[in-house]
Amino acid sequence: MSLAKRVKPWVASLNPYQPGKPIEELERELGLSGVIKLASNENPLGPSPRAIEAVQRLLGDLHRYPDGASFALRSKLSERLGVAPDQLVFGCGADEILELVAKAFLGPGDEAVFAWPSFAMYPIVAQGMGATPVAVPLDADLVHDLGAMADAVNERTRVVVVCNPNNPTGTSVGAAAFERFAARLPDDVVLVVDEAYVDFARRPDFPDSIAWVRRRPGTLVARTFSKIAGLAGLRVGYGIADPELTGYLERARHPFNVNLLAEAAAVAALDDREHLERTVRMNGEGVDRLRRELGAMGIETWPSEANFVLAKAWPGVYDQLLREGIIVRPLAGFGMPGHIRITVGLPEEIERLLKAMRRLVEEGAR
Ligand SMILES: *Cc1c(COP(=O)(O)O)cnc(C)c1O
Repeated sequence: MSLAKRVKPWVASLNPYQPGKPIEELERELGLSGVIKLASNENPLGPSPRAIEAVQRLLGDLHRYPDGASFALRSKLSERLGVAPDQLVFGCGADEILELVAKAFLGPGDEAVFAWPSFAMYPIVAQGMGATPVAVPLDADLVHDLGAMADAVNERTRVVVVCNPNNPTGTSVGAAAFERFAARLPDDVVLVVDEAYVDFARRPDFPDSIAWVRRRPGTLVARTFSKIAGLAGLRVGYGIADPELTGYLERARHPFNVNLLAEAAAVAALDDREHLERTVRMNGEGVDRLRRELGAMGIETWPSEANFVLAKAWPGVYDQLLREGIIVRPLAGFGMPGHIRITVGLPEEIERLLKAMRRLVEEGAR
């Protein structure tokens, strides 16, 4: 018997997430070493040494289940953020938080509104529950068109996602625009503010999303230890919302979704201010340098409040950089051919990328 007529049609037609190309894979293909990856917005400084120590200390306890309530992480983070412990929900990455929202609020006939291009998981988690993804194009500056997104909300809308700063453009919305938008949303629509990159944001009027959680109870802020804390490989993220909303997500999650090592590493990372500050400082310098030097080559870039820069290069640039041993993120799949997203690397990695781009431009690759 074929399963083709049994599988849920919305699952069968899903376009799976495409991760950045792994370094090892490209090194195998090219038969060389020293490949650099500026494709997945990972922390180029690596994890905090304190997180590494915390993980090492626990290796002998791997036969134990983790603390299903993530008590230590919950306590520390609630204190840090000034929210109650039951306003937090933890996940296997922020990806799982998005999935929990979908599981709790979306089904066939429902709609989820988000911007496009934005994080590729939004349509995937919505469609995964049989709901209809509604993608609203970014405006001419590649910023969320919040007016158009509010217009796209109707009686079938259950979830709206604002990715701020936005991946893959690095652009962001300010407090005034966010306020106009949030005030227009019906109370019974879950507003997800995906702040995977919030720690990198520099604009002074960046929205205070946690204040919005208090002001508008159907609001959920999603954050992650993958980017700023350099713990992408361990998988830990969280949501901040009012207790009613976190309560629904708690019911939808697996009991041990944050593993033993991930929780301990996240706690240790929160204690390492120096690693965080160094990451933010180096990133700001990297963003400015990439924009300045790519601009000098005549390559358009966009303002970035995140740890990557969007650049409009030329079709074929992704493969040309691969041949130089440099992995960036191609955006052709987002309908932006010739555009790449460059993660801010170490200064020497940025140097290599810029050198390669300069050479390609001089050779007339454009
Ligand atoms: C990286 C990312 C996430 C999720 O990261 P996790 O590794 O699952 O915590 C969520 N949203 C955006 C916009 C991201 O870029």
